[in-house]
Amino acid sequence: MQTAENPEILQDETPAASSETLTEPFSTESVSESELESELESETEPESTVPVLEIDPDRPMIALTYDDGPAVDFSERILDTLEKYQAHATFFLVGDNITEDTEKILKREVALGCEIGNHTLSHKNLEKLSLEDAVLQLSECDDKIYQCTGIKASLVRPPYGAYNDAIREADKRMFIYWSLNTNDWKREDPDEICDIVMEYIDDGDIILMHDIHEQSAKASQKLIPALIEKGYQLVTVSELIHYRNLQTEDGMVLFNVHPDGAFFNSLYGTVCDYELQKEIISYDEEEHHPAQAETESESGLLTQSTEQE
Ligand SMILES: [Zn+2]
Repeated sequence: MQTAENPEILQDETPAASSETLTEPFSTESVSESELESELESETEPESTVPVLEIDPDRPMIALTYDDGPAVDFSERILDTLEKYQAHATFFLVGDNITEDTEKILKREVALGCEIGNHTLSHKNLEKLSLEDAVLQLSECDDKIYQCTGIKASLVRPPYGAYNDAIREADKRMFIYWSLNTNDWKREDPDEICDIVMEYIDDGDIILMHDIHEQSAKASQKLIPALIEKGYQLVTVSELIHYRNLQTEDGMVLFNVHPDGAFFNSLYGTVCDYELQKEIISYDEEEHHPAQAETESESGLLTQSTEQE
């Protein structure tokens, strides 16, 4: 991480004030508009403090996702590791966990080029709420994220993976599931969490973890360099979608973006690659991948998997 050590210093170096003073004395007679624009552009360039992760679309890539934070210490340790290896991840945040103590964590996630997603205001099972309350859970989490970062989250991960078609009709953002569930929250051994991922990982997977547990932070310290060593680029969910040229649509529920086809459910009927579905369901037979893709195939409604997504 060479550019984001101290974003404020970089911004201070930007001669914003001088560019204002430049525009007045010059008329179009002495400097053409295009010349002036390019001069101003080059002056404002250093404002971009988000590190650029050079992503090769032809190389394997995966999206690490962390739910339920931000959490003091554990989220920060994960960010330390991501920063050390110049890797990206996506954090699905619980609005109530955004406090005076954790705001800096959010800002750091953004500064490191990580993605922020919505995981509701208070980690409610949206299916068990009235539609009005479910929408409120999402919008109030949006507000907390926006107040802290100025960002409107474009992705949602519903707690417990629970939603219904009415919720998807009401909030047409993409709902992000996962194709590899580490069940990190109930495993005490960080090595075990790491081993599960390294055994089952596939190009284009979305990995489910949580940044509120010590074992998850410890596992990440080992897992992130191991994945990079194995040739994976660690990208955000949106980067995975972008670099795999996935055609998105309103109300899509996404599981992975494998190079030869994504696995997703559409609001307008289930649309997915059944070979991939078979592959994911076969994971379910393993203890490590419990029921992550049980589908009611016609409605696209997904049944619940584990207690703490
Ligand atoms: Zn959760």
